[in-house]
Amino acid sequence: MRMGRKAKIAATLGPSCSEPKTLARMVAAGLDVARLNLSHGEPAGQRRLALRLRQAATAGHRVVALMADLQGPRLRVGRLEGGALELKAGRSVELHAGVEETGPGAIPVTYAALTTSVDRGGRVLIDDGKIELVVLARRRGTVRCEVVRGGIVHDRKGINLPGSRLDVPALTAKDRRDLATAVELGADWLAVSFVQSAKDVELARRLTERAGRRLPVMAKIERREALARLDEIVEAADGLLVARGDLGVEMAPEEVPPLQKQIIALANAAGKPVVTATQMLESMRESPRPTRAEASDVANAVLDGSDCLLLTAETAMGRYPVESVKMMHRIIECAEAIRRPLRTDNPGQSLSVPQSICLAGCRTAYEVGARSLAVFTQSGFSARQVARFRPETPILAFAADATVARALALQWGVEPRTLVAQTSIEQMVEALDRVLIAERRARRGEIVVVLAGSPLGVAGTTNWMHVHAVGSRVHARA
Ligand code: PEP
Repeated sequence: MRMGRKAKIAATLGPSCSEPKTLARMVAAGLDVARLNLSHGEPAGQRRLALRLRQAATAGHRVVALMADLQGPRLRVGRLEGGALELKAGRSVELHAGVEETGPGAIPVTYAALTTSVDRGGRVLIDDGKIELVVLARRRGTVRCEVVRGGIVHDRKGINLPGSRLDVPALTAKDRRDLATAVELGADWLAVSFVQSAKDVELARRLTERAGRRLPVMAKIERREALARLDEIVEAADGLLVARGDLGVEMAPEEVPPLQKQIIALANAAGKPVVTATQMLESMRESPRPTRAEASDVANAVLDGSDCLLLTAETAMGRYPVESVKMMHRIIECAEAIRRPLRTDNPGQSLSVPQSICLAGCRTAYEVGARSLAVFTQSGFSARQVARFRPETPILAFAADATVARALALQWGVEPRTLVAQTSIEQMVEALDRVLIAERRARRGEIVVVLAGSPLGVAGTTNWMHVHAVGSRVHARA
C-alpha cells in the first residue's frame, strides 16, 4: 500500500490501540513506526502487543518498524498514604529519599541520592512540571521544600530536578532487563531515555549486541546535559528523538521550539534520522479534531526537517487513536505540497563517494523525470544517504535483511522492501523490474534510477548509478 507522503508517522502503543482491529486500522491509516513504551507493563503483555503489531503490518502489506523505548533513570514518587497528597502553595513539605513509602504528609522519592543531588534554592518538579517545589534545606535522608505551585501529587508520578547532578546509571537494572526483552521480541530500534553522553548510546548498543542482535540506537534528547554534548551524541547515535515532553520540563517551554530546530538541523546535516515527539495532536486525546495550533505544530515539524513525527498519549491513551494517525497523515501531505529544492547542505564541502553518487542519483532522477530512485542497500546506509538530500522522486529501498528494511520505515521518504540477495547486477535489476511491474510503480520503458554498491552485499560501498529503462537488459559486472 502506497502512502505518498515523505515524513513518517510513529505512534505509541497502549491501552487505546492494543486491540488487533484498532492496530489494523492504524496501519491502514499510514502508521510507519510503532513505539513500545517499556516504562509500562510486563514482558508478556509487551510481547503480545509486538506480535499483534507484526500481524497487523503483515495483513496490511506494510513495512512497520517496532521501536522499543527504555524508561531510563526516571525519578519517581513512591507510594503515598491513600494514593495522593494535596500540596498548597506557600506551605512546606518533606521529601524522603530512597524510600518506597513514608508517613502521612511527606513524599517518598525512589532516589537515594536526592539529598546530595539538589542544592538549596534548586527546583523539584513533579508530574510533568505541574507541581513545583523549591528546596529550603537538606538533612540526612530528607529534603524540606516550599511549595511554589501546588496541586495533588499521585503515586508513581515522575520527578524532574532541572539543572541538578543526577547520580544514576544511564541504564538502570530495569533498562537492562527491558533491553533484553526488546531484542528478544524483535524490535527494530532501541530508544534510550535521558541520554547524557555518547557513552550512554555506545553502552546501549553494546548491550543489544550482547543480548543477541545489534539494534540501531535512537538517543532521546530530553536533558540539559544532552544539549551540552549534542555533537558527540549525534555522532554516536543512529537516530535522534526530540523528546519535547521531558525537554519542556527540564527547560523552560519557550526554549523548546528553537532547540527542536537546532537538534533537527544537526541530525539532518549528519544524515541521521530524527523524530519529533509529544503533544503534537494533544487535544485529540479527547476530541476528534486537533486545534489549529496543533496542526501548525505538525506542519512546522515537517518543514523543520523531521524524518518522523511521534504520537504519544494520543494513540496510547486517547479516545481517537486511528483518527490521530489519519489527521497527522493529512497535515503532513499538505505541508509537503510546498515544493523544495534538493538539500545539498554545506555547498562547497567535499562529499564521500557514496554521498556523491547518491546526490548524482537524486539530480538525475529529477532531470529525467524518473519514476523512482531504486536503492539496493545492505545495512540501510545507501538509503539514508539518498534520503539526506530530500529528493522529490520516491525512494524505493531494497534490503535482503527484513530488520534492515523495517528500520528504514522511519526514514524520511524511504519506502523499504525486502528482496532476496542477488549475485549479479543483471539479476538485481531484473528482480527490480519484477517488483516495479507487480506493484504498478512503473511500466515497461519508463525510467528508474538505480543505485547500488559494487561489490554487491558490502555495506557502505555505494558507487554505482544506472539510468534504467524498465524491462531493458543491463550489461554490467559486479
Ligand atoms: C518525551 O519526553 O517527550 C518522550 C517521548 O518520552 P517519554 O514518553 O518516555 O517520557
